[in-house]
Amino acid sequence: MSKLFIFLGPPGAGKGTQASQISKNFNLAHISTGEMLREHVTNQTELGKKAKNLLDEGLLVPDDLVINMLVERLSHSDCKNGAILDGFPRTLGQAKSLQNISENFPINKVFVFEADNEELIKRILLRGEVSGRSDDTEESIKVRLDVYNSDTAPLVNYYQEQQLVTTINAIGEIEDIYNAIALHFNNL
Ligand code: AMP
Repeated sequence: MSKLFIFLGPPGAGKGTQASQISKNFNLAHISTGEMLREHVTNQTELGKKAKNLLDEGLLVPDDLVINMLVERLSHSDCKNGAILDGFPRTLGQAKSLQNISENFPINKVFVFEADNEELIKRILLRGEVSGRSDDTEESIKVRLDVYNSDTAPLVNYYQEQQLVTTINAIGEIEDIYNAIALHFNNL
């Protein structure tokens, strides 16, 4: 059965960097809803047009749009061994929808990345210089951190109640953080 691994944490915590390495080494699909949405914006699809301003401002795209996009993505053949969800779910509504489709995709573990705001802001501003991401600006970062605290952070409790949470200290060397995460995949 395909397994789902959720990487949960504030923007700039390194979820994408780690998901990219772990997915390669453990033969899992890497699904970043943020990356998918940015592609829609670039390609000027209907979804991209609806999402563009929200992304730029650091606000969330409505649940139904993101859920439909994710469900479609999970039907691709590269998900048959399982997938890492990087940036999904971000709201309780998304988490509940995921539970409904979890019959074929049980959630195996939720990795919660922890880092303090000061470090996160520093990292995102640095990343912005390289990536040119239109939402890696000081204003948008503040909104994204607020949105994380209000809408997404409650999911930590939600998954804790289901005993699915493993906490990852996201401060330190990329390789050390990778090793701390990979340990759990080696033991599967
Ligand atoms: P990320 O690349 O994960 O930092 O996401 C970038 C932006 O895409 C977010 O600030 C949101 O505007 C949007 N986004 C990504 N994933 C989701 C999601 N699961 N729900 C709603 N909006 C999302």
